[in-house]
Amino acid sequence: MNTAQRPMRILIVDDSRHVHRQLQVFLAAGGYSDLAFVSSAADAFELLGLSGGDASAGSDVDLILMDIEMADLQGIEATRRIKSAPDFADVPVVMVTADTSPESLGAAFEAGAVDYINKPIHKVELLARVRSLLNLRREILIRKEWERNLIELAAKLDVANSELKKANDTLARMASSDGLTGVANRRYFDESMIREWRRATRRSSSIALLMIDIDHFKRYNDTYGHLQGDECLRRVAETLSDLARRAGELLARYGGEEFAIMLPDTNLSCAVQVAEQAVAAISALDLPHSGAPELGRLSISVGVALRTASLNEGHESLIRDADDALYLAKKKGRNRFEIAGRT
Ligand code: GH3
Ligand code: MG
Ligand code: MG
Ligand code: MG
Repeated sequence: MNTAQRPMRILIVDDSRHVHRQLQVFLAAGGYSDLAFVSSAADAFELLGLSGGDASAGSDVDLILMDIEMADLQGIEATRRIKSAPDFADVPVVMVTADTSPESLGAAFEAGAVDYINKPIHKVELLARVRSLLNLRREILIRKEWERNLIELAAKLDVANSELKKANDTLARMASSDGLTGVANRRYFDESMIREWRRATRRSSSIALLMIDIDHFKRYNDTYGHLQGDECLRRVAETLSDLARRAGELLARYGGEEFAIMLPDTNLSCAVQVAEQAVAAISALDLPHSGAPELGRLSISVGVALRTASLNEGHESLIRDADDALYLAKKKGRNRFEIAGRT
C-alpha cells in the first residue's frame, strides 16, 4: 500500500489501563483504529525495535502518545531515547501529562516532544492535536516517497544515458572504420584530409601522403581464394597500423587493396623512412604468394608525396602526386617506394 493511503498507526505508551481504554474510545470516535498499546517504556522500546531486536519492527508507527509519569522509566527519558534513533527522528511524540509546569514541559520539549495533551484527557483537544500531527506526518511521508522515486528515476536515467552514449560511440566508430580491417575507412580519411589540409594551410606546414597498393593482389585472390585474400588484407592493415602511431597520423583503407598513410607536420626524410619501413614490414611478413612473378611472397608498392599546404591548391594535388609515385613504383618492379617528382 502506498504512503498516501495507508492508515496512520498510533502507539500509546501509558502505565494505566484506564487511560488505554479511554484513549481507545476517543481515538475510535475520531476514526483512528490502528492503535498499539504498551504499558511501559521497556515495552515501547521492544515494539519499536530499539531493544536490539528487529530494527524495522516499529517502522510503521506514525505518532506516539507518551505518558510522562510511568513506573519504570520516565516518559521524558523514553522520548529522548526514541527521538535519538534515526528511524524515529520524524515520528512526532506527544506527551500526555497531568503535570503542565514549565519545568516539566520544558524538559519534554527539550527531549524531542512536539506537543502535549493535558490529563484528564479531553476528547476534542486530543483529536484536534492528533489530526494535525498525523496530517503533517502524512505529508512528510509523501514527500519522502517522492524523493525516493526521483532518486530512483535519476539513477535509471543515468543508466539509460550511459547506454545511449555507448551506442553512439559504437555508431561513430562503425561509421568511421573499415569493416574488414578495422582501420579508418575512406570516408574518415577524406574528412581528415580536408581538416588537416586546412590546418596546415593556416600554419603553412607540410603534409606527407603515402599511397600503398598490394602487389598482384588479383592473382593472390585467384590463387588462394577470396577469404584468404580478406585475411591477407587484415594482416597488411595490422602491420601498417604500427607505422602511423603519432598524434595526427592516420592509416586508412583507401579502397580495395589500397591503403593510405597521412603524416601531417612532417618532412620528406621522415615520410621516406615510414615508406621504407612499410615496404620492409610487409616483406618481412613473408606471406607466400606463388602468383607474384618477381618475389613469390606478398609485397606492396608505395608512392610518397609531400606538400606545403597553401590556399592555391587543394589536397587533391597531394593525392594525385602520391598516385603518380605509386604508379612509378609499380612500373619499376614493385616491392618498393617512389617519391613524387614535384616533391
Ligand atoms: P598490381 O600489382 O598492379 O596492383 O596488381 P593487382 O592485382 O593488385 O591490381 P588490381 O587492381 O588488378 O587488383 C586488385 C584486386 O584486389 C582485385 C580485387 O579482387 C581485390 N580486392 C579488392 N578489394 C578486396 C577485398 O575486400 N577482399 C579481397 N579478397 N580482395 C579484394
Ligand atoms: Mg502514568
Ligand atoms: Mg590497386
Ligand atoms: Mg594492387
